[in-house]
Amino acid sequence: MFIELTDHLRCVAEHDESFLVLLPDEVVDRSVRRGTLGCPSCGAVYHVRDGVLEAGDAPVPSADEAVPGGDALAAFAGLGGPGGYMVLVGSAAGRWAEVQAAVPGVHLVLVNPPAGVAEVRGTSVLRAARLPLRSGSMRAVVLGAPCGGDPAWVAEAARVVLPGLRVVGQGAAPTGVALDLLADAEGWWVAQRARR
Ligand SMILES: [Zn+2]
Repeated sequence: MFIELTDHLRCVAEHDESFLVLLPDEVVDRSVRRGTLGCPSCGAVYHVRDGVLEAGDAPVPSADEAVPGGDALAAFAGLGGPGGYMVLVGSAAGRWAEVQAAVPGVHLVLVNPPAGVAEVRGTSVLRAARLPLRSGSMRAVVLGAPCGGDPAWVAEAARVVLPGLRVVGQGAAPTGVALDLLADAEGWWVAQRARR
């Protein structure tokens, strides 16, 4: 986990949003390989093991869902330049290498990636039952299967993306959330968080 991502993390427990305090045990090249993150609000402790932040039970990506290429995912996300963070959830995280090539200089946060995806430079790997990320802190969120059709994950994505920026999902297009639908075709949808 990229050490600077710590500034954008939150406790996943049900209380008002709280930051987490990092106690690193091993840091290599700005990547936390081992350590703990504590919540000053509720006392929860999360572990980083082998570079992966473990913040809860993760849904398993379905391997048989076709995911578009990373170029397409990057185009859907609509990022205009380097900097900041883009989140790839579930099966979409399996496309990290192509996405990274398409959006150089954007740090990729891989949440519940398919088996075999490990952290490399420019990425962080998280496992969690909801997004352990601060509200309004990410430049884009791509929800692969099975999360793109899950209202709880869509709501989480809408929460963490910056106003005016995009959430992309695989599954039924969302309704009744704080997102404006831009496109819906071939099992994928693209939406924008309303500007304030
Ligand atoms: Zn907490």
